[in-house]
Amino acid sequence: MSELTSRDLIIQATYFVASILFILGLRSLTKPTQARLGMQQAAFGMLFAVIGTLLNAHILSYQWIMIGLIVGTIIGYPMAMKVAMTSMPQFVAFSHAFGAIAATIVGVVEYRHMHTIDAMGNMPGMSRGVAAAIGFEVLFGALTVTGSFMAFGKLQELITGRPITFRGQNAFNITLIAAAFVSLGVLIYNPDTTWAFYTLVSLGLFLGVSMVLPIGGGDMPVVISLLNSYAGLAASATGFAIGNNVLIIAGALEGAGGFILSLIMSKAMNRSFANIVFGAFGSAPAASTKAGGPTKEAKTITAEDAATQLAYAGSVVIIPGYGMAVAQAQHTCRELHELIQKKGGKVTYAIHPVAGRMPGHLNVILSEAGIDYGALLTDVDDANRVLASADVAVIVGANDIVNPDAEEDKSSPLYGMPIFRPWTAKTVFVVKRGKGTGFSGVENPLFTKDNALMIYGDAKGVLGNLVKEIKALDEGH
Ligand code: NAP
Repeated sequence: MSELTSRDLIIQATYFVASILFILGLRSLTKPTQARLGMQQAAFGMLFAVIGTLLNAHILSYQWIMIGLIVGTIIGYPMAMKVAMTSMPQFVAFSHAFGAIAATIVGVVEYRHMHTIDAMGNMPGMSRGVAAAIGFEVLFGALTVTGSFMAFGKLQELITGRPITFRGQNAFNITLIAAAFVSLGVLIYNPDTTWAFYTLVSLGLFLGVSMVLPIGGGDMPVVISLLNSYAGLAASATGFAIGNNVLIIAGALEGAGGFILSLIMSKAMNRSFANIVFGAFGSAPAASTKAGGPTKEAKTITAEDAATQLAYAGSVVIIPGYGMAVAQAQHTCRELHELIQKKGGKVTYAIHPVAGRMPGHLNVILSEAGIDYGALLTDVDDANRVLASADVAVIVGANDIVNPDAEEDKSSPLYGMPIFRPWTAKTVFVVKRGKGTGFSGVENPLFTKDNALMIYGDAKGVLGNLVKEIKALDEGH
């Protein structure tokens, strides 16, 4: 056995520190108040991992590494700084694609390297264990590359966000998966079977496209999280293939984290994994199929009247949704919250697990505006109990998460999703720009309920008007 040099020891020590920082980062990310710290811990972890890797004695020249670092920074930094919070899911999909390209290329290069005859006329070849690791790596890596680009295209509306389906699609996909596993089996049995290796790469690329085609835009965050998990598995397999401990650990964390997140999201939407992956959600009719549909017209209220009710309310529950994030209305919302509180009212926030476009979307935005985490009700049942005794529920740019059809209309694509019941409060104010539907594309009968009053306009503008009107009440105008 070769002896460990002091350089090897330093590398393993940096990998150890990196792994600890990744785990601490994940732990901190479980609490919105510590989310920034978590990101910093993870970023430092990555710095240690990069330093450890750069110390590797096998690196003969740093020239190409420097070029990659500079080009990557020039492209990546402005992209990450400019991206809007609402475009974060497609940005994440895009960056996964690049991580997966890296893992796939490492796999292909490693395989070629092991199957090239050297100057001495020898071919290193590889063991069955390494072949299995490299096989997994290129299969999951290639699948994540095309799957992530497809998810990006759908969310960015470069291609249709609706599911693309054809007869026998599930059978077709299952055949592709079976063919991929047969190729993997052949590769493990005889690692020198070059055709099996390249078939595996091609099938992975093909599977990424064909598996994402039938999935609707509404389910894309779940798919992205699942692809995240695949990218983690590919990275972990890379770690086994090239003997890199930090890749094994970080990949396993990403693989498990992405999978758990996908499960949490599907549970919050009350959908099974199989239903998301094979169900073609979003292909349902764009309106509720309930007989008659919404017949009543929604009533409106002026900002002045709404402000008077809010100023004298004993308890107010704010339900923020995607529209609050789009309008960046969180700071104005905090101002309104403080004014109501000053007048003696209690303000809480009902935060749905799938409000917005990614898990924790609204938690992050409200925490950014300095809203105390203690004011957030994140459990749907708890929030519904508070809503039932509230004076006013204020819905700010939310729609699907307050759609009563999720409980009442079996034909609705939302049926079964746990939702808030703002109509159980004495009065409901709905802040939205017009008659737009939510992400699922279905109508919402809440807006025509007897105690629901619409305040049309951009969320930031409407909340600003409410703040102005409450201040005017104080000044006796
Ligand atoms: P939503 O159902 O998409 O509704 C957002 C509403 O905001 C729209 O009806 C829109 O109506 C309004 N709006 C848009 N821009 C606005 C602005 N500037 N000012 C005021 N209102 C504005 O949002 P949601 O209630 O948060 O529900 C989230 C949806 O995403 C659910 O269907 C969920 O299943 C899905 N989803 C989320 C996740 C996740 O992780 N969070 C994952 C997968 C799926 P107007 O056009 O009339 O203004």
